[in-house]
Amino acid sequence: MTLWLLNEFILDERPLKKKSIKGLSLTELQDFVESLGEKKYRAAQLFSWLYAKGAQSFSEMTDISREFRIVLEHSARMDNLELVRKSVSPTDGTTKFLFRLNDDLMIESVLIPPEESSPGAERRLTLCVSTQVGCPLDCKFCATGTMGFLRNLTAGEILDQLIQAQRHAQRRITNLVYMGMGEPMLNYEEVMKSVDILSDDRSLNIGARHITISTAGYADKIRQMADEDRKVKLALSLHSLDNEKRTQLMPITKKHSVDDLIEALEYYYRKTKRRPTFEYIPFDGFNDTKEDIRKFVKLSKRIPCKVNLIPFHSIAFTGISGLGASLRPTPKEKMERFAQALREANITVMVRSSSGEDIGAACGQLAVEEGRVKISQARVKSASDGRSA
Ligand code: SAH
Repeated sequence: MTLWLLNEFILDERPLKKKSIKGLSLTELQDFVESLGEKKYRAAQLFSWLYAKGAQSFSEMTDISREFRIVLEHSARMDNLELVRKSVSPTDGTTKFLFRLNDDLMIESVLIPPEESSPGAERRLTLCVSTQVGCPLDCKFCATGTMGFLRNLTAGEILDQLIQAQRHAQRRITNLVYMGMGEPMLNYEEVMKSVDILSDDRSLNIGARHITISTAGYADKIRQMADEDRKVKLALSLHSLDNEKRTQLMPITKKHSVDDLIEALEYYYRKTKRRPTFEYIPFDGFNDTKEDIRKFVKLSKRIPCKVNLIPFHSIAFTGISGLGASLRPTPKEKMERFAQALREANITVMVRSSSGEDIGAACGQLAVEEGRVKISQARVKSASDGRSA
């Protein structure tokens, strides 16, 4: 570090705009340290402290000189997510984290212990991360949709969910699912950047095969993932193979029809040879009929796939009306029959448990009450800013 720069930081009282560095790639960190007059190798140290060691402050970075740490204090921010609340399910140990972002908005992440019967269970610990504050897609069965959408998360905010959850759980997280609040494909660049950082062996080294990205259905992005040869697993929230019914459940189907999605997945499978997973919530009498099963079996002949059947988790707490209020979960025995019929067609089927339902942490239940308040405040503010502009 050149001394003049250090002096300038210490003597000059003007507030410098600090750069937010959690979420920067190694190359970006190299550019940053060079802009501060430091040698490139410092970036590798920073990378390791930020991600592999999960440092919460520059003072912890003990192999970095004191001088440079002072410069970092003045020129960089870490923007750690702040843990506001941690709720643990007394029934299954699922843990829900409520985090405050730098601008006071809130998001949730869920730590899911393995189901005991599953293979390798004792070693596996999965975190479900959010990719947006709220969600713009308005799927009729999902609580997050009722919050509306406020903003995309940065790569740093996405990956810090894992760093913070790991710190608080004091256990290594082995698997990551992008299935929390938001639609990952609407935040593609930051999502993929967070994947690249977390899967780097100089960082947390989470294998791409242990990372799943779940989408409500963006055909273009599915193709992009195939073209970029992304090694992560891909899941599509399918929920119906009938275009009209799917449109009722998931308005995004107007933009990307069931046929478009299937074509995109066929392309994905041809290019990557990786089987996608279909997520399917059977709703009683709506999408759990023999005809639905027949269509599913036909689809599996076109695209080798896995299926996750997810029980419908109640979102009545959101005060939802319309179709969302009339949907009911398929009874357990019928769900089993549905699963069995798919298995008989040689499809790998998992019937998901409802871990965390008692604490509002199960799939589709993430909707931050605090976030709801913030979002309505932000809407009022932006409306009034708009008026005064
Ligand atoms: N936007 C992405 C990821 C977030 S939703 C996507 O749609 O895939 C994560 C998973 O939870 C999806 O499969 C979604 O369909 C499912 N889900 C949403 N609401 C649910 C509910 N009330 N009960 C059960 N699963 C739900």
